[in-house]
Amino acid sequence: MGKALILMYHRVAVAQSDPWSLCVTAPRFAEQLAVLQEQARPLRLQQLTKALQEGTTPNRSVVVTFDDGYADNLHTAKPLLEQSGIPATVFITTGPLDREGAFWWDELERVLLYPGTLPAGLSLRINAGAHQWELGESAHYDEAAFRQHRDWRAWQPAPTLRHSIYLAVWRLLRPLPEGRRRTVLDELLSWAGAGPAGGPLPGTLSPREVVGLAQGELVEIGAHTVTHPMLAALPADSQRDEICRSKASLEAILGHPITSFSYPYGSRDNYTTETASLVREAGFARACSTLASAVGRDPHRFQLPRIQVEDWNGEEFARRLLAWFES
Ligand SMILES: [Zn+2]
Repeated sequence: MGKALILMYHRVAVAQSDPWSLCVTAPRFAEQLAVLQEQARPLRLQQLTKALQEGTTPNRSVVVTFDDGYADNLHTAKPLLEQSGIPATVFITTGPLDREGAFWWDELERVLLYPGTLPAGLSLRINAGAHQWELGESAHYDEAAFRQHRDWRAWQPAPTLRHSIYLAVWRLLRPLPEGRRRTVLDELLSWAGAGPAGGPLPGTLSPREVVGLAQGELVEIGAHTVTHPMLAALPADSQRDEICRSKASLEAILGHPITSFSYPYGSRDNYTTETASLVREAGFARACSTLASAVGRDPHRFQLPRIQVEDWNGEEFARRLLAWFES
């Protein structure tokens, strides 16, 4: 029985800054797909879970998945998937479908990590706690400094005060319910004054675009909750609501059952065994986490591991692919 990998992407786009390594450029995505065509056996997620059950997984099986539901998945990634005939599953956060919106982490990044001048002091009231920061020299942040730090990743040491404030606020905002997070973000936006620099925020899919993405049957649509919460931080009722409502919204748009799910921030501390049971009870057949490993012989069908792909060229991607297959 062969080794299998489930790959996780988010965006196919050029990023001006990308603290979470969510973007792979279109040329590099094309190179990576070419490597998969030549050196792997691309499968649909559903095909892989069936093969795993039957013990017939082809060697070097690979499944391509995308999380979150960025519009570039339709406009940039899908044409490249079609050219190479490689199937993919796109897990969509359904809250932004109802409104022209952006993801909160992209908004936060624009306010704090893009060039411009901010007020010297920031104070935010979050969960009855008052948080204060002095930006000092970091209040001014010019184009040159921005360019110097644009390759910074969130797991690296913060190069400026702005980066450490960004991370601190990100950690405070992440566990909040959507409504309270929105309030804090609006406070931040008005504190920053002018609208976000750097052009429009990365777009999220509209219902019409979800239909376009699903057309042609190369792309499976999966669910990724309504508001992208840390599920483990929510009571069971709220978890169930997030899981079931995202499924129902997508089914209403597409008119067919949605059977695949992925956990937001899918590391093991962001969902629980109870979460996995709720996903199964909601009628899903499988769920993906972000536990970074190859797929074992007999994986938990509701905790499938995935490996995040970064903006690597074909050669680097092929080298890493080989290492994962041999791990
Ligand atoms: Zn996500």
